[in-house]
Amino acid sequence: MFDNTKRTELSELGEFGLIEHLASRIELEQPSSIKGIGDDAAVIDPQGLHQVVTTDLLLEGVHFDLGYVPLKHLGYKAIVVNLSDVYAMNATPRQVTVALGLSNRFPLEAVEELYEGMLLACTKYGVDLVGGDTSSSNSGLVISITAIGAAPKEEVVYRNGAREHDLLVVSGDLGGAYMGLQVLEREKAVFKETGAQPDLVGHDYILERQLKPEARRDIVELLKKLDVRPTSMIDISDGLASDAMHIARASGLGVTIHDDKLPIDPETYRTARGFDLDPSTCALNGGEDYELLFTCALTDHEKIKANPNLTVIGHMTEEGAGYRLVDGQGGLHPLRAQGWDAFLSKD
Ligand code: ADP
Ligand code: MG
Repeated sequence: MFDNTKRTELSELGEFGLIEHLASRIELEQPSSIKGIGDDAAVIDPQGLHQVVTTDLLLEGVHFDLGYVPLKHLGYKAIVVNLSDVYAMNATPRQVTVALGLSNRFPLEAVEELYEGMLLACTKYGVDLVGGDTSSSNSGLVISITAIGAAPKEEVVYRNGAREHDLLVVSGDLGGAYMGLQVLEREKAVFKETGAQPDLVGHDYILERQLKPEARRDIVELLKKLDVRPTSMIDISDGLASDAMHIARASGLGVTIHDDKLPIDPETYRTARGFDLDPSTCALNGGEDYELLFTCALTDHEKIKANPNLTVIGHMTEEGAGYRLVDGQGGLHPLRAQGWDAFLSKD
C-alpha cells in the first residue's frame, strides 16, 4: 500500500503533507459516504436509518505497549474494537474517523504502518475512513477512533432491554486475549532481564486473540439468519462478569452465570493453568475478548442451542437475586467484576 522503506521525518512533510499523503491512499466505497477527507467535515447520508456513533481513546503506555505490539496490528485492533461496539448495537459500521497524536520519534513510515493496519480492517469490515485530526504529542502515541454505523430503528439493540428469564448467551470463547497478554508480558520481562528472544511457541491462538482480535459481524448476521432477536447486547471489552452486570444493571435485573458453561479454548485453559491461574476467572474477568454477550427469549433456545458459535451461560433473574455465579456443584457465589477499569491499575 505504502512503498517507503526509508525513514522520513514527519517534520519534512508537515501536517498537511502527511494528511495529503495518507488521503491519497484512501478511497470511499460506501454509498452512504458522501464526502471523506479534504473538507472541514465528512458528510454521511443516513439513508433513513438510525445512526450509531462510538469513540475510543487509546494511549500509549495505558492501553498498548509498543514494546510488543507491531504498529500494523495496533492499527488493525484500534479499528476492530470500535467496530465491535457498533455490532454490539446490532448495527452495521460504515465510517470511521481517526485522530492521532504523534510524538516526533515516529517517522512517516511508522504512521504508514499504523494506517496499513487500520485500512486493512476498514476493507475487511467494509467501512470508509472519512476523516480525522492530526497533532503532535508530548506523551507518546495517542489514537482516538470514532466509528459510525447504521441500522433500521427497530433493529437497534440496547443494553437495557433484557427481561426476567431471558437466556444469557455469549459468542466464541473467553479469556484468550487475557492469556495472550500474560504470555507477551512474561516474554517481555524475560527479554528485559536476560535478552532472550521471546518464546511464543504453542500460543498462536491466544496471541492472535490479543494482538489481532476480530469483531463479531458474523454473529450479528447469524442471529438475523436464525431469526433470533437479542433483547439486549454488549461486546465483551472489560470482561464477561463486568459486562453481564452492565446488562443486568441497565435492565433493572439480576443475572446468574454458570461456571461450568463458560466457553474456554483448550489453549487458553492450558496456558492459564501454566500461569497458576484459574481458567474460569480468566474467562470471567480477562477482558478484551470482543465477543458479543446478549440476552434473548427462552423461546429462542431451540434456534441457538446447537450452534457451535453460541453458548448459553446463564439467565436473567429478578433484580433482588443479584449477580450470581453457580459453581459445578450447584453452589452459589457472588459474581464479582474484577475487569479492567480505566481508572484503576492496569491489571
Ligand atoms: P481542520 O483544521 O479543519 O481540523 P485538518 O487540516 O485537521 O482540518 O483536516 C483536513 C482534512 O483531513 C479533514 O477532512 C480531516 O478529516 C482530515 N484528516 C486530518 N487528520 C487526519 C487523519 N489523521 N486521518 C485521516 N484524516 C485526517
Ligand atoms: Mg484538524
